[in-house]
Amino acid sequence: MAKILVTGGAGYIGSHTIVDLVEKGFQVVSIDNHHNSSPKAIDNVSKIVGQNIQNYAIDLCDAHQVAQVFETHPEIEGVIHFAALKSVGDSVSDPIFYFRNNMGGMINILEQVQKHQVKAFIFSSSCTVYGNADELPVTESTPMKPAESPYGRTKQFGEQMIQDIAPVCPDTNFISLRYFNPAGAHPSGLIGESAMNKATNLVPVITETANGKRASMSVFGEDYDTRDGTCIRDYIHVMDLADAHTKALQFALEGRAKNNTEVFNLGIGEGVSVLEAIQAFEKTSNTTLNYTMGPRREGDVVAIYADKSKATTLLGWNPSKGIEDIMRTAWAWELDRKY
Ligand code: UDP
Repeated sequence: MAKILVTGGAGYIGSHTIVDLVEKGFQVVSIDNHHNSSPKAIDNVSKIVGQNIQNYAIDLCDAHQVAQVFETHPEIEGVIHFAALKSVGDSVSDPIFYFRNNMGGMINILEQVQKHQVKAFIFSSSCTVYGNADELPVTESTPMKPAESPYGRTKQFGEQMIQDIAPVCPDTNFISLRYFNPAGAHPSGLIGESAMNKATNLVPVITETANGKRASMSVFGEDYDTRDGTCIRDYIHVMDLADAHTKALQFALEGRAKNNTEVFNLGIGEGVSVLEAIQAFEKTSNTTLNYTMGPRREGDVVAIYADKSKATTLLGWNPSKGIEDIMRTAWAWELDRKY
C-alpha cells in the first residue's frame, strides 16, 4: 500500500481524489491549512472511506514544516500537489500574494520531492495555460499563449519549474494534469465544492441561484461566435477527475512514462455552451433558473475543449459522466450542503 501525500486535501478536487485513492488501496496523508477549505471536508472523506485521514494544517510556504512532514513519513512514494489559490480576479488584484503562495508552496514541496527521491509528482495544472487557442480541440502540444492572469501564469510557471527540475530528479516521474472545467460532487452528498470565497464558477453559481442564495445570475456574453452566442467549455465531473489522478499516479509509480515529465489534458472532449449547461441544469433539477443575458466577462476565452486521447491511450482513462450527471450531483450537494 503506497503512501501518498496530497496537498490541498480538504479542497474540492483534493477531497474527491483522496476518496478515489483510498478506495483503490493507497494510504493517504494530507496537508491543508484551510485557507480556502473546511476541516469538515477531511472528516467527511474519512466517513466515506471508513478510515481516519490524517491532515497537517500547515502552510506550504513554511519550508521547515513541510520538511518535517516528509521526515515523519519517509515512506511517501508519491505527491499530488493541489494546494494553490485559484481565483483569477484576486490574482489580478494581488499578484504578489498569488506568486508567493502558489510558487512558494510548490518550491518547498519540490525541494522535498528531490531530497527524498519521491517516485511520482502530480501537478494540478489547468487548460488556462492554452489561453485563446487557435485550434480546437486542444491537444497537449497546442502552443501555450501568454497567460490571461497572474493565476494562469502560476500554472505555466509550475509546469516550467517541473521541466527544469526533472533533469536533476531522475528517480521522479512528474505529471502535469491540465484540468478543463471541474464540477459536480461525490454521489454520497458528503463532499462537494465549497470554497470559503464566494463562488464564481458557472456550476456553483447556477445551483446557488436556483437555491435562492442569489436573486439571479447573468450569462456573460451572448454575442460570441459560437453556436448559440455563449462561451463553450469542457465540463468534467470531479469523480472522473479524481479517477484520472489515481491513474496518473499509478502510471508514474509503475514507471510506465517514457519521459520523466508528462502532460495530460483532462476534459471529456465535448464543448458545452453556457446556455446548454443551464438547460441541463433545468432538466435534471426540474426547476426554472432565474438568469439574464449580460455583458461579456473580461478575459474569458471564447471556446475551449480537450482532445483527451492521450489520457485515454496512456492512462486508460475513460471519463463516464456528462453535464447532466454534473448538474444532478452538484444540485444534490447544494440542497444539502454539509459544509
Ligand atoms: N459564466 C457565466 N456566468 C457566471 C459564471 C460563469 O456566464 O455567473 C460563464 C463564463 O463566462 C464562462 C463559463 O461560464 O464562459 C465558465 O466559467 P467559469 O468561471 O466556471 O470557468 P472558466 O471561465 O475558468 O472556464
